[in-house]
Amino acid sequence: MPMTDFAHNLEAVRQRIAAAARNAGRVPESVALLAVSKTFPAQDVRAAHAAGQRAFGENYVQEAVDKIETLADLRTSLEWHFIGPLQSNKTRPVAERFDWVHSVDRLKIAQRLSEQRPASMAPLNVCLQVNVSGEATKSGVAPQEAAQVARAVAALPNLRLRGLMSIPEPEQTLDAQRAPHRQLRELFDALRADGLALDTLSMGMSADLEAAVLEGATIVRVGTAIFGARDYSH
Ligand SMILES: *Cc1c(COP(=O)(O)O)cnc(C)c1O
Repeated sequence: MPMTDFAHNLEAVRQRIAAAARNAGRVPESVALLAVSKTFPAQDVRAAHAAGQRAFGENYVQEAVDKIETLADLRTSLEWHFIGPLQSNKTRPVAERFDWVHSVDRLKIAQRLSEQRPASMAPLNVCLQVNVSGEATKSGVAPQEAAQVARAVAALPNLRLRGLMSIPEPEQTLDAQRAPHRQLRELFDALRADGLALDTLSMGMSADLEAAVLEGATIVRVGTAIFGARDYSH
């Protein structure tokens, strides 16, 4: 795909976000765009960066590490967000290389990330992944356990708990898409009312970003609408 297509796709996604924000009575700048580059080569990230995109999301540790190394020359102007399932034996490269982890789904993972975060780096920004009703994956803490886990994660020295993340089951209508996003936002509001200093709701993907923005998303994670369909055959 030539570079200009990413610029075009990025602009179209930014327009969608802006329109949804205006419909929600929010300013477009209150929603950050995370470009999900999993399965796409480093050169595609470079092209999106050249088109002005700064935050990129990755799901697979080794693939991400390779890309981060290939793009080392851009490191100070890129943010890397880990958004995939994280096994406890794979936390070290994530702690050492990423700026954010959205997919913290148990305390043990958070403890390891905090222990392994180099002292020379800023605290690792993390979100707690919550398994709201109709979750597509089995990952994520149950909503009724979220407050307890969030408190424990927030107390870890080398992490900064920023908020909540979820991956709802795909739905066709706007109303059906909004329901799980609303659940996550209500949980977020409850945790904030309870004294946790959270500022991030990571929800919404290519197919449901409007519903997520209407329900208060502060980061939408968009892959297909920017980079095209993914090919998992190699
Ligand atoms: C792949 C992925 C996305 C992007 O999904 P698209 O439908 O391609 O926009 C967002 N979030 C997570 C956690 C993902 O794994």
